[in-house]
Amino acid sequence: MSDRTCLIVMYHYVRDTTATSFPDIRALPPQLLAQQLDWLQQHYTVIDQAALEAAACGHAPLPPDAALLTFDDGLVDHYRTVFPLLRARGLRGTFFIAEDACAPAPRLLAVHKVHFLLAYLGAEAFGRAVLRACEAIGLPRTGSREVLGRDHWDDGGVRAIKHLVSYELPFDAADRILDDLFAGHIGDAAAFARELYLAPAMIREMAAAGMAFGHHTRTHRMLARLTAAEQDAELRGGVAWIRGMTGQETVSFCYPWGGPQTYTRDTLRILRESGYSVAFNTVRRRMQPEDQRYELPRIDTRDLPPYTASEPAPAPAFSAEEA
Ligand SMILES: [Zn+2]
Repeated sequence: MSDRTCLIVMYHYVRDTTATSFPDIRALPPQLLAQQLDWLQQHYTVIDQAALEAAACGHAPLPPDAALLTFDDGLVDHYRTVFPLLRARGLRGTFFIAEDACAPAPRLLAVHKVHFLLAYLGAEAFGRAVLRACEAIGLPRTGSREVLGRDHWDDGGVRAIKHLVSYELPFDAADRILDDLFAGHIGDAAAFARELYLAPAMIREMAAAGMAFGHHTRTHRMLARLTAAEQDAELRGGVAWIRGMTGQETVSFCYPWGGPQTYTRDTLRILRESGYSVAFNTVRRRMQPEDQRYELPRIDTRDLPPYTASEPAPAPAFSAEEA
């Protein structure tokens, strides 16, 4: 009987997409979040960030059947939809915010340009546009481009185009390509960002009501692709930034994309030196007593009821990349 086992659930978009201009965004509808909270409250004790930190640092046991709710990317959905639902039930969640996205003058993160371009254009048109742009600026071919550009634009094609843009293209080239496509097809990215993300006033209001905030880097770049000095610049200021906005004593962290291949030993060192309390990845299993505090695993909302009949059986760890 372990006193540190915890089901840590990961959420991203929570919205009724049929009521938006982007019905193909992969989102959890609010009524399914409500059903999932019903299920969690029936089978688990939903704990808050402080209880998780105390357990992960060995200071206090968790209640039996503990669960923690985490929400990534600082989306306005978390204020409009999640916050009222949690507050009505007396629950608390942990929300991960990137500094560029939740600044007073927010910038649209590349990961979200990809999501909305994919939803707007479809995988094939988006993929072909990216490939044409790569040709136009004379980029050398890398792994995913070899498997793209043929006639396969199924789920494999979607994964390949996401992989190309996020894991393979040089950051400056990806930014240029995504900026051009976004401006050409959807519009002004700065205006879009102001509608997409939590504003500082929303964060302060949620924090005052007991919600916890964690850092999710400054720019949401994949840390494993950065030098140690660049990683330092992404992580170093996060604790002070979130403390300044929320008054929290402790600040946790969540890796962009989140698979174990998306960060390095340098990342773990910088997290420790910067004073983060704990960090979450996306290894798809329950937190166990032996997990070290900067690699806490999480299970995606879609791997739990009402999407599935039950939670996944304990299985060898594997990574579920952020959508
Ligand atoms: Zn993210």
